[in-house]
Amino acid sequence: MPHGYAATPVGCPGVPPGRPGGRVRRYYPNVTRQLEQDTAAAGGPHFVRFGHFAYESGDHGDTWLSLELLFVDPQWLQRSAGLLAERLRRFSPDVVCGPLVGGALVAQPVAAALGARFVYAERQVSAGGPMYFVPPVARPTLAGRRVLIVDDVINAGSATRACAKDIRDAGGELVAAASLILRNGADLALSERLGVAVECLHSVRWNIWPPAECPLCQKRQPLDSPTGVEG
Ligand SMILES: [Zn+2]
Repeated sequence: MPHGYAATPVGCPGVPPGRPGGRVRRYYPNVTRQLEQDTAAAGGPHFVRFGHFAYESGDHGDTWLSLELLFVDPQWLQRSAGLLAERLRRFSPDVVCGPLVGGALVAQPVAAALGARFVYAERQVSAGGPMYFVPPVARPTLAGRRVLIVDDVINAGSATRACAKDIRDAGGELVAAASLILRNGADLALSERLGVAVECLHSVRWNIWPPAECPLCQKRQPLDSPTGVEG
């Protein structure tokens, strides 16, 4: 995510920005027990926050995941990447592509488990939303190959769509997209737009809205900042 989530919240007209906080909830019922236990063991109970957040995609939502915690315990990450890789083996990818930062950190062990190549995609800011590009020297790795996108989380799907465009522009054949965590329901819309299967290890339920339709903005609830809120 970065990818799905913004490090700096996007402003919303009429709503004061940057109130630090968001309520911490120790358990999140739709995350599997194993994920709760392992992330709690890795970094404490702050993995999920509830409040009013603005994501990199431009959408607003009621949940923030502190994805940095997914990478605190490399043994957990390796186990999870291995489980995700088993779900993806049937796509027989030649190359696994992960958007920097978190996506690439998951995509690399997935590629290793599948015996595939790995490339990362770098984010560039544009007015139309996030864009991701595979570095020029790595692009020949994609041409004519079966390519799988792996991210840490899929929220609005904007990073996945941007990676898919670049992979196809480089001559790769996109065979599937996947993430460790996926917003419940995001797979259906994304699969339809990309024309490939979308898989995940954990499906989690939270709400996102375009800012104009955000009920939290309509209640004039200030945006929460996901940064600087520990303690
Ligand atoms: Zn809002």
